[in-house]
Amino acid sequence: VDYDGIDRILQAFGKDISFVKHSKIEEEFGTKSYDMVLNIEKLYLKKMDLVERFQSANTRATNAVHYLYDLRQTIRKKFPDDVVRHKLMDQLFFLFGKILMGFPTNTLLLNSDLGELKKVGGNKYYNYFYRQTEQFISDVKLVNNLSKENIEIDSLAAIRALITDLSQKYHRNLNQQRAITLIFFVLAFLILIILFYQYRRVKWATLELKAFRYAVENSDNAVVITDAQRHILYANEAFEQHSGYKASEVLGSNPNILKSDLHSNDFYKKLNETLDRGEKWQGELINRRKDGSLLYEKASIVPIIVDGELVQYLAIKLDITEYIEIQKKLQQSAAAFETIGEGVLTTDGERKIISANPAFIRMFGYTEEELIGKEPTVVSSDKDNTLFYGKLRKELSRSNHWSGRVQGQTKEGRLIPIWLTVTVVRDNDGNIQNSVVIYTNLEEIIEMKDKAEFLAYHDSLTRLPNRAYIEKEIIDIFGLTKETDIKVAILFVDLDRFKVINDTLGHYVGDKMLVELASRLKKILGKNDILARFGGDEFVIVMGAVSDNHVINILAEKILSAIREPITVQEYHLNMTASIGIAIYPNDGEEISIIIKHADAAMYHAKEQGKDNYQFYSTQLSIEMHRRLDLEQKLMYAVEKNEFSLAYQPQYELKSGKICGAEALLRWNSPDLGIVSPAQFIPVVEETGVIVTIGYFVLREAARAYLQWREEGAELEWVSINLSSIQFRQEDLLENFRRIIDETGIDAGNLELEITERCLMDYTEENLAILNGFRKMGCRISIDDFGTGYSSMGYLKDFSIDSIKIDKSFVDHLPTDANNAEVSTAIIALSHTLEYTVVAEGIETREQEEFLRGKGCDYGQGYYFSRPLKSEALIKFVKNRQSGYPVE
Ligand code: C2E
Ligand code: CA
Ligand code: CA
Repeated sequence: VDYDGIDRILQAFGKDISFVKHSKIEEEFGTKSYDMVLNIEKLYLKKMDLVERFQSANTRATNAVHYLYDLRQTIRKKFPDDVVRHKLMDQLFFLFGKILMGFPTNTLLLNSDLGELKKVGGNKYYNYFYRQTEQFISDVKLVNNLSKENIEIDSLAAIRALITDLSQKYHRNLNQQRAITLIFFVLAFLILIILFYQYRRVKWATLELKAFRYAVENSDNAVVITDAQRHILYANEAFEQHSGYKASEVLGSNPNILKSDLHSNDFYKKLNETLDRGEKWQGELINRRKDGSLLYEKASIVPIIVDGELVQYLAIKLDITEYIEIQKKLQQSAAAFETIGEGVLTTDGERKIISANPAFIRMFGYTEEELIGKEPTVVSSDKDNTLFYGKLRKELSRSNHWSGRVQGQTKEGRLIPIWLTVTVVRDNDGNIQNSVVIYTNLEEIIEMKDKAEFLAYHDSLTRLPNRAYIEKEIIDIFGLTKETDIKVAILFVDLDRFKVINDTLGHYVGDKMLVELASRLKKILGKNDILARFGGDEFVIVMGAVSDNHVINILAEKILSAIREPITVQEYHLNMTASIGIAIYPNDGEEISIIIKHADAAMYHAKEQGKDNYQFYSTQLSIEMHRRLDLEQKLMYAVEKNEFSLAYQPQYELKSGKICGAEALLRWNSPDLGIVSPAQFIPVVEETGVIVTIGYFVLREAARAYLQWREEGAELEWVSINLSSIQFRQEDLLENFRRIIDETGIDAGNLELEITERCLMDYTEENLAILNGFRKMGCRISIDDFGTGYSSMGYLKDFSIDSIKIDKSFVDHLPTDANNAEVSTAIIALSHTLEYTVVAEGIETREQEEFLRGKGCDYGQGYYFSRPLKSEALIKFVKNRQSGYPVE
């Protein structure tokens, strides 16, 4: 046996089977094939085992034969005589040879031979031989069994079976793959075809899209596409044209940038709700263009839904602004046709009436049925005026338009002045298609013209002629007197203190009063006299045909007494007076403006004379007027030129003689006129309003002086300054006073304001407020010139004031003048009950002072004690008194 060869083959096979086992056979051919491989391996391992066992058994048998051979030789030599047994041994060897050569063995023979041999016994060599033979036979048997076993293991069949299995599977796989490949191929072909069709479709779609885009871009409709969040993604050219926005400007914005405020919030809410539901919205939008003008659009907005998801909105909008505007105009003209005050007829080509508006029907009294089909000449007053109609037709053929004044006639026959406007509309051939005839009733216009003229020359309240009327008419009136001795008198009548009534009781009362007075005056006047109202409370009477001044005097007296008569308006019983100035043409001037000015000046003179009287103009008056004008001019800049200064008159306690305060009195040192009395210039600056500026100067200067006195040791309780009623009309009076007080640093409690009783009487409401404002600031308030006004004593308690100044006129001639003695006593007593202190001013004598002291008057002021002094002199005066100067 070639063991090495066998071993090599086995090794090689082992490698092969291991390779196959570890290949992907299971994956590729399945578990069954793999199991077959495993089985083959198992068979292989079995064979390996058999070979090993065979090898050892075989070797043992071979060695046994060799040993037996040697043992036979030994036995032969030892026991040469024991031939029987030699023969037996030879026989056995023969059998061995047969066994070894694989011949069928005669077991009987063998066993008997062995039995023979065994009988020998006792001999160790034969024993060995016997036992070794037995061993040999069992080994040979083993070898044979193993061989037999080996042959029974049919690994070849297993291998063949595997091969068959694999090759079957292989072919099956191959077929499968072929089939798959074929399917792939078919599929690929199909896809190719599909792709081809798809390509053709896309190509079509692209073309379609291109066409669509072109259409959108060039559409007359504005097209706007937004994303789901309503940011504009696209806007076409029409959008730009309609809205005035560039597309690039609006990209990314919300379309509500166009929103106007003309839709309600509800409208937008509904719109959005519709879109949010994914529905299409259609309607009219009123938007605003970039320039702010209105843009009317008919719009449909469509939500674009892809795969159930809202991705975009598409808005298509048609600009209908023009259409809306035409519509509006049509509506307006229709409405105008219905409601216009003018009568309007429309006629057809044959001049037959098609329609008549309500105004026409009202104007002429025909019904529409009566008019339709007739010619417009039905309302003409002279229908047969062929000449006129010929001219009209000629003009119409020339310019399609005619207008002019004609006479209309109503159905009842009443004539009315008409302004006629005819407009014809022609067709392309020049034939009249329609005409529109407008009838304006001139009656009202003519009436209006008269009314306007009346208004221009009359006062609407009293219906009296006005200044313009007088100026217009006077030339004729003057003209009449030119050649004769007869004169014209102009009476300028100005009511006294009318303004107070107007302001306190209201315009209604004032107006009623004026109307009443106007009618009273009218009754007094003669035929040749004209009564005019120049505005406010000024009346002017033009008295024609005056032969001498006596008649004027009589008339003036009559006027004054007529005005004096008490007037009752509502629950008020009012007393009124007037001042009259009279100027005469041609003596006092040739021109109406001059004469009126002179009458005005005379009227002022009358006021100065105490009111309720009349004065004639005189050259003296003129001189006065000039002087006054001159003063006005000079005073205008006197503050700036520093021409004013203050003098201070001490006010002292009557009981003790102690100086408590001083009144600041204004002094004007005019470069041309020297020292001018305030009595002269105060009325002038009050009239020009310069008093306001002067007033602030006085406050500042007095405050400054007061602080200086104090600094120099002349300590007084107060400094008084005088306030004019004109200052009270200053709206910012309080503020300015407050500021000046703060600026100068004077304590408001050291400042006394003297306000005249008359001032308190005027403008009660406002003045009271100002007064309270001053009190709130802490200023003392004193009523100046008390007793000269119209106020009753009872009136006083309504004001919050500190002291009363008895006017000089009541101090004069005390104590001899019984009337003054009584009045001053009463004033002192009443003031004390009201808890006001009392100052008597203008004390010139010891008697006066004693009387007043005796009546309990608190303070005194007058030349007797001290004249007004310059600030430095006052300081000295006060200091002297402080050092114990006796009163008497
Ligand atoms: P008034 O407020 O009644 O001032 C008193 C006037 O009487 C002062 O005249 C004073 O010099 C004068 N007087 C004082 N004691 C006597 C006397 O014993 N006998 C006589 N015969 N006269 C006496 P004045 O300074 O000429 O002022 C005249 C008026 O001018 C003042 O009357 C006042 O109404 C007004 N006035 C003076 N200063 C101012 C001012 O600063 N502002 C305003 N708005 N008016 C002023
Ligand atoms: Ca005073
Ligand atoms: Ca006074």
